[in-house]
Parts: sequence; structure tokens; C-alpha cells
Amino acid sequence: MGRAAHPFGPGTQAPVYPPAVSKTVPAPPGLEWETPLYEQASMQLEHALELAEVPDFVANRLRHPERAVILTLPVRMDDGTYRSFPAYRVQHSTVLGPTKGGIRYDDAVDLGECAALAMWMTWKCALLRLPYGGAKGGVRCNPRTLSTAEVARITRRFTAELAPFIGPQRDIAAPDMATNEQTMAWMMDTYSMQRGYAVPEIVTGKPISIGGSVFRHEATGAGVVMVVEYACRRLGRELAGQHCVVQGFGNVGGIAASELHAKGATVVAVSDLSGGVYAEDGLDIPALHEHVAEHGSLDGYEAGTERLTNAELLELPCDVLVLAAREDQVTSANADNLRCGLLVEGANGPTSVEADAILASRGIQVLPDVLTNAGGVTVSYFEWVQDLGRLFWDREEIRRRLADKMSDAFDRVWNLAHERGISLRDAALVAGIHEVSAALEARGIYP
Ligand code: NAD
Repeated sequence: MGRAAHPFGPGTQAPVYPPAVSKTVPAPPGLEWETPLYEQASMQLEHALELAEVPDFVANRLRHPERAVILTLPVRMDDGTYRSFPAYRVQHSTVLGPTKGGIRYDDAVDLGECAALAMWMTWKCALLRLPYGGAKGGVRCNPRTLSTAEVARITRRFTAELAPFIGPQRDIAAPDMATNEQTMAWMMDTYSMQRGYAVPEIVTGKPISIGGSVFRHEATGAGVVMVVEYACRRLGRELAGQHCVVQGFGNVGGIAASELHAKGATVVAVSDLSGGVYAEDGLDIPALHEHVAEHGSLDGYEAGTERLTNAELLELPCDVLVLAAREDQVTSANADNLRCGLLVEGANGPTSVEADAILASRGIQVLPDVLTNAGGVTVSYFEWVQDLGRLFWDREEIRRRLADKMSDAFDRVWNLAHERGISLRDAALVAGIHEVSAALEARGIYP
């Protein structure tokens, strides 16, 4: 059989293609990171995209992370046996600069959780006008069952395996749940050993002795309370005298409770994994910190307080409820029972999409995570800039710069929400998406 004439050969008509479709086809369903938490982040994004009116190619690019790294870390335990730990690093967007985000050690860490948290980090960095995209990572482990030496070996192996994907101009880590300054010091040392010279700017939230910021430890909790204060002002209230409840007494919640206490608010209840403590007339927050420093948790603290469960704590009547533990705490199962005036998201993703709708219908204002807990990444940015320039600012200078950034972002979110009649969460996401969209439209899609 002879060969068929080439359809585009001389004398043939050029084929007529259908007109270019304006919408690019979204990625197929069932991708590896599509877990319930990622679904929550995606639903929030889709809702915000309806309001943000960005080009389709921008929306499509932002729906999924740019890169996800999945690792299995072999680690020698103290008893001489070896265990394998799943570990992840997800980089959501490099449109505005290197990616930035925390590292968590928790037995619920998975790819979807990291992808959701990385996406929220993108909106947060963009909203604060920081030159970063979002990332998140973690190791699936139960840190409470591991010795310090085991955690150090996990951290060093994790960093070594991540080395090709991270860097001061590529992806910069920070502490998150169950990681801290020491974890960051191990990461910085491991990365530096591989490079052959000290690279303090590879992580933020590290000890001051190796280039850490003097205000990073307090930054997230302090930023949370700044946002509460700005909101109170807009609502015609004084922060002093507000009755507050704080879920989570770690880095974010512990500092937020101290800042609220120092500013004259009455903190009536706090909690951690061991449960909550309650005192109608207000808790002695410095005494609670001393107890936790000595005993490792709130367990066993008495001093005229009542014990209560975390579920009971969330339903206490109060002016301000700060969620500073972890994601998925207020859902359709308990949103109807909350009795707070203002719900403050110190943690990432603590309120489900269904709960958001219930709270809105009940007139409970939510200060959203991407705005409210952005103090941490903002001071991380200051730390990175200081490390790159080998210069250092004092505490007051950093606090002042943080307050400027937080109040600027708060005003933009509050004003947009009121101008357009949308929630503060939608306004925060729309403002963040607009920043990324402007950059992506200017850069275009390579090649
Ligand atoms: P952390 O490990 O220092 O503290 C977490 C606290 O929450 C601990 O007291 C723990 O016992 C408690 N907790 C955990 N699960 C709980 C539960 N189900 N009920 C009550 N308490 C519970 O962690 P962190 O750094 O304070 O982070 C807390 C949240 O804030 C996370 O969602 C994290 O992603 C977010 N966040 C942290 C930072 C930061 O700078 N550390 C910045 C932005 C957002």
C-alpha cells in the first residue's frame, strides 16, 4: 500500500483548528496531595478566585504546588535499631521569590497537610508583601516518644536529603509544631557542613548566637495580639478588659496569652494537649509558663483553677477565642456551640469551610490565619535580610517594623472586606492572590 499523501503537503489547505480556548484545563482529579486539609485550602482558594478576577492561567498555576518532595528517612534509634520516617517538603509558588515555610514534627504529617499549609503560606507572604512564596515540610513522627539525640539525627538526615531542593535563594525553613530554635540550629549546621562554610540564612527562627533574630521567638504570638488589638479598635472596644480564651500553649498560644495578659486583657482559660485550665477572674499567665517550663505541660497546675477538656474550652463564653494549637479545631460539629465574640486564628487552618459559614451566619467575626499569624514569617523575613546583610536590629526596631507591616496588612484586609462586603478571610486571600497574580502576569509562563 502506498503512503498516504501528507495532509499538510503542497497544495493542501491548512487545517482549521478550533478557536483557542480561554480556559486552560485544570489538572486531573485524584492527585497525591488531595487530602481533606488540602481540599479545605482549595475550597477557600476557589471561593477567593471568584472574587479576585485573575486570568485563568494565573488561577490554574496557583491551584497546585510547584514541587513536592517525598522522602523516607532511615534513622538510627538510641537502642541501635533503625527506623524509617516519612518526610515531606512542598513548595507551592516561586513567583515572588524563594519559598518559605515551617517544618513540623507530628504523627499526622502527610503530603496533603504540607501542600495545604504551603499554599496558605503563599497567600500570607504575598499579603504581607514579603518577597517569598509558600512552602511547608515535616517528618511524620511522634516527637514525644523520641530522645533529643534521635530528633537531632532525624533533623540532620532530613536536611541532608533536602539539600538539593533548599537554599537561601531557593527555600528557607523555619520552626513549626514541635520544632524550635534547636531544630533550626541542627538544620543550619548540617546544611553549612555540606557547603563548607556557615550559611545562617538557610533557616530562620534559629538561636541568636548563630544569627537568629532577637524577636523571632515572640513574633507570631505578638503579631496575633497586634491584629486582635487593631480589630478591637475598629469595633470600638479596648483590648484591656476583654475576656480571652487561648487554645494551645506552645510558641504561638503561650506568647499570645502573655501578650494579652501584659496588655490588660483577662485570660480566663488556656489549654494544651493535656487539657485546659480555667479561672473566672483570670489566670496567672507567668505562673503557668513557669509550670510548663518545669513540668513540660499544663498537667498538674492547680492554684485555684478548674480543669476542663479542650472541647469544653472552645465553648466557653468569651470576647476573644484564640486558636493556637493546630488545624481543624472548629468544624460543623462544634461551630454552633461557640460563644466567643471574635475568633482569632493563631494556628493555620483551625476553622473548616463549613464552620466558617456557620460562624458567619451567627455574626462571629473570624480573624483569618493568613493575616493573623503572619508575624512569624514577617520577622523571619527580617532575620533572613539581616543574615544576608550581616547586620542586626534590636528588639524595639524589629517590633516597630513588625507593627508597621501587620497594621498595613490589617488595614488593607479590613478595608477591602468592608468595601466589597466580603469576609475578612476572603479579603485576605483576594489581597494575597492579587499580589501573586500581578507578578505572574508580569513574568508570564516560561518558556
Ligand atoms: P507548638 O508545638 O509550639 O505548640 C502547640 C501547642 O498546642 C502545644 O501547647 C500543644 O500541646 C497544643 N496542642 C496540640 N494539639 C492540641 C489540641 N488538639 N488541643 C489543644 N492543644 C493542643 O506549635 P506552634 O509553633 O505554637 O504552632 C501552633 C500553630 O500555629 C500551628 O498551626 C502552626 O502551624 C501555627 N503557626 C506557628 C508559627 C510559629 O512561628 N511557630 C507561625 C505561624 C503559624
